[in-house]
This record gives sequence, C-alpha cells and structure tokens, in this order.
Amino acid sequence: MTSFHIAVLGGDGIGPEVVGEAVKVLRAIEGASEHRFELSEDVVGGAAIDAYGTALRKETVALARRSDAVLFGAVGGPKWDDPKAAVRPEQAILGLRAALETFANLRPARMQPALVHLSPLKPEIVQGTDVLFIRELVAGTYFAKPKKYWQDDKGVWRAVDTTAYTEPQVERTVRMAFELARGRRKKLHVADKQNVMATSRLWRDVASRVAGEFADVEFQAILTDALAMHLLYRPTAFDVVVTDNLFGDLLTDEAAALAGSMGLMPSASLGAKRNKHGGYLGLYEPIHGTAPDIAGKGIANPIAAIQSLALLLRYSLRLEREGGAVERAVDDAIELGLRTPDTARAGDKTASTTAVGDAIAEAVARELRR
Ligand code: NAD
Repeated sequence: MTSFHIAVLGGDGIGPEVVGEAVKVLRAIEGASEHRFELSEDVVGGAAIDAYGTALRKETVALARRSDAVLFGAVGGPKWDDPKAAVRPEQAILGLRAALETFANLRPARMQPALVHLSPLKPEIVQGTDVLFIRELVAGTYFAKPKKYWQDDKGVWRAVDTTAYTEPQVERTVRMAFELARGRRKKLHVADKQNVMATSRLWRDVASRVAGEFADVEFQAILTDALAMHLLYRPTAFDVVVTDNLFGDLLTDEAAALAGSMGLMPSASLGAKRNKHGGYLGLYEPIHGTAPDIAGKGIANPIAAIQSLALLLRYSLRLEREGGAVERAVDDAIELGLRTPDTARAGDKTASTTAVGDAIAEAVARELRR
C-alpha cells in the first residue's frame, strides 16, 4: 500500500466546488486500489484574506512544501478586486509557485472527441488535437531588467522591456519537455524567433544540444509565428511544444481556445523539486478563474479540475494507470452527454457539477476494478 499526501486548496468562487469533485474522484481511486490519499485542506486567496488578512499563510506554504503535490482551485472575485490593495488573492498562486520553485507551466490542449462543436475550427481539422505546451514561467520578457516606462529629457515617452535568458534557465525547461515527450508521442517542437531574437537563438542552441541526449524523441525547431498559424491549420501535427514565457503565454491561450470551453482545461506548474515518490512536487489547477457569475449555482464544469487531478496523478504521484483512467472517464462522461451548461448545445439536457463528478468517479472506480 502506498500513501500519498496532497494539499487541497480550493480558493474562492467555484474553486472549492470543482476541487471538491476532483477529491471525489480521488476517493473513488482509493476505494478501487491499494493507494491511500491523505488530504490536507486549507484556505487561500480571498477566503484567506477574510480569515487571516493574507492570501497565503506561512502555514499553507509549509503544508505545500511537505506535500507530494498541491491541488488548487482558483482565487479572486469582486470582493477583493481593488487593484491598489496591498493584499490580493492572486498572491496565493504567485507565492506558491515561488515556494515550490516551479519554473515550467504545463498546459495540455486536448480536443474532447464529443465536444468538437465548441471549437472555432472545423471538426475535420481539430478532431484528434492533443498538444502539451510547456511554458517557461519565471524568466524572460516579463521579469528581466531593465523594465521601465518613462519620459525622456525631450518630453518623449519611452518604454523598455528586456528579454533575457541564461543557458541553465533554458536547459532545465527544455530538459523537462524532452522527458515529458518521452511519456507521450515522442515529438517535441521548440518555438522561438531565432531569425530576430538573440534569446531565441539561445533557446534553439540549447534545445538542439539537449536533443542529442534524447535520440528517441523527434525534435524540430519552429518559428513561433509559423506555429501560431499551423495550430489553426493542422493542430494534430503537434505533440509537445516548449517555449519561453512570452510566446508561451500567447500560444497557450490560442490552444485553449481551439479546444473549446475554459471549464475543460487543466494546468500544472512543475520545477526541480521532487517528492518522496520520485515525482515532481507540482501545483495543479484549472486554467479558469473563480467564475463569480455562476459560483454557488451548482453548474460549474468540474472537468478542468478533474483533468488537473489526472496530471497530478501522472506527474507527481507517478500513477500512470490511474491518471489514464481519469482521462478516459472524462471522455466517456462527455460522450454520454453529461454536460454542464457551458459545454451543452442549445436544447441539450444539462447536468450539475456534482452529477458530472459522480459519473466520472464511478467510471474511474469501474475501470480500476477491472
Ligand atoms: P473566469 O475564468 O472566472 O470566468 C470567465 C467565464 O468563463 C465566465 O463566464 C465563467 O462563468 C466561465 N467559466 C469559467 N470557469 C468555468 C467552469 N469551470 N465551468 C463553467 N463556466 C466557467 O475568468 P474571469 O471572469 O475573468 O475572472 C473571475 C475571477 O477569477 C477574477 O477575480 C479573476 O481575477 C479570477 N481568476 C483567477 C484565476 C486563478 O486563480 N488561476 C485565473 C483567472 C481568473
């Protein structure tokens, strides 16, 4: 029997609702296997500001650090929206990423076979899309200095952002991408602008060098603008894409839009820290926010949170079979027409958050008992 420790941080709005369904799936896995999950819940974001005056307590950081993985919902909402406030809900995510030293953000964009109608692309183009984006998260254009916006002596407004990378920063991200590609279809693209940017030439050089150690992974470099276009014409041609912080920010939103609803997309933030099971000590969260417009109505789509759990099982707990079972159960639930309003077609019968969670939990348990 293996025992795993997971920190569960639901956050605000629909966060606790959707994370609750992911926990339900985890309990179903426990009931159908030898694995035991010790869950520690805590408040973060707006809920923590209300209770403790801070978005992320020291105790929560310590809990995250000693866990095998962190399952996170979403934080924020109108109540805490003052941009000038010194304490803000999103400090919880930024603080956790810093504490866990996660330097890579993973965003899979997988087209659910039964939901092609949600994609803006033609079904014959988008069907079968399954791309894993790995975006460098802690360096590059958003962080490097100098970064300023000023008026010069002649009264002309000027602004500068610096894009800077070091070889180690690029190498650890690229290396992770090759390792993850090994567990998938073994195809990796690095997206850069090496025709015009020095940092991109560094990315391409480092990726090409590391590729030599991964002869089993088919490696190709591609210009980011070309990739943005190819994603619209032939998204199925890509398996894993690794890129820098700025390009990754843009490409991952494009990919999420291709694959349909916000309520479906999971993400993971991983770094160098490993847990006692040899997996990544990662932070897993849906890409959507707290959806204040539907919070408390019982209609939030729990699939992004449940898909985040599938990533957690695979990358942190190394439970490949269980992660796969969760993904198949999600596909089946959608196929059977169990849909929250955000993914339903006009006239479709819709299901509640808990009904979708129940169905997925039961399907996972059935598969694992087989
Ligand atoms: P949002 O993702 O919360 O909502 C955008 C739209 O998508 C809404 O119409 C919402 O109802 C819908 N939606 C989102 N998730 C859904 C789900 N699981 N099921 C069904 N529909 C869903 O983005 P927003 O409205 O821009 O932000 C709302 C709040 O969330 C803000 O306070 C924002 O700061 C915060 N936010 C937090 C995170 C995070 O914690 N990672 C990310 C984005 C936004």
